[in-house]
Amino acid sequence: MSLPKIDRKAFIKELEQEIEDIDKSLPESQEYRRYILNNKQGECPHCGHKKYVKYGIDKGSQRYKCKSCKRNFTEYTGTWMAGLHKKDKIDHYFKLMSEEKSLDKIKEILGINKKTAFDWRHKILSSLSDIDKRDFTGITESDETFFLQSEKGKRVEGRKPRKRGGASQKKGVNQDHIAVIVTQDRKKELDLTVATKGRLKKIDLEKAIGNRLSQETVLCSDSHVSYKGFAIDHNIEHHPLRSYIKQRVKNGIYHIQHVNSTHNKIKKWIDNRFWGVSTKYLQQYLNWYRTKEMLKDSREITKEFAKQTAQDIKAYQKFKEIPINYHLLISSQ
Ligand SMILES: [Zn+2]
Repeated sequence: MSLPKIDRKAFIKELEQEIEDIDKSLPESQEYRRYILNNKQGECPHCGHKKYVKYGIDKGSQRYKCKSCKRNFTEYTGTWMAGLHKKDKIDHYFKLMSEEKSLDKIKEILGINKKTAFDWRHKILSSLSDIDKRDFTGITESDETFFLQSEKGKRVEGRKPRKRGGASQKKGVNQDHIAVIVTQDRKKELDLTVATKGRLKKIDLEKAIGNRLSQETVLCSDSHVSYKGFAIDHNIEHHPLRSYIKQRVKNGIYHIQHVNSTHNKIKKWIDNRFWGVSTKYLQQYLNWYRTKEMLKDSREITKEFAKQTAQDIKAYQKFKEIPINYHLLISSQ
């Protein structure tokens, strides 16, 4: 049976509308990932190849086939959304997360259990670790700050829980301290890296920011020998501030006051908002803080936040690697 021409047009229009409606109901992050893939800007999550074709629809998600490794994937594969149930709650979750609602509150509002709310938080945060990292240009401040090692949420037999924000029993930097390197230029590049246990070494700086320097980077730091060696290795202009004579600013422009202010802001945020976080998840919260900073001038923060997370096709793997990375950190010296 063939439809009369005019009806056929209407029918097709209706169908297109229906398809559009289905797309509209997709979570923001999924829709964005699909947009990237459909516009040939994505890559195969299995092998990284850039050539793939559409390969049918699978339970509401678009399927693709890689021309190189011949494996199938969808817009979820590799991203933090892989294997997720209750995808219809994703957008609402993002809204609550960007409002920094507690896990208990999210659990109550969305009707999901707390473990799910927790896992989603950290899957999302895993997808933010490598977003939009560019070279540092111009005057770039770098300095480490320390967090006390914490196993929040885990009871340790025979050891009194340390009070929030409490001090280490021992004096000076020691093995109770987790070093976080904060680096920022005077534009908008910011890096927050959980580096090591105890004192910082040159190799820690190398791992954190070694690949984000350019010939235009002018490094400002304290006079720690690790920074000196690092700057020499990279042949960049370096202005160490001599803290032993309380030198805070050199030539009116070289200082590390922006990073020191960032140190304080991060600590306040973590203490006030989360009552401290466990060392195992510290990098995750730093990813969150950095994204907040990146998006603070955006008019659609929740939407942008969701979009950012759709771009990382290694996010699911990174989430799985949290315990391994934690183990490596606490066994580092
Ligand atoms: Zn492939």
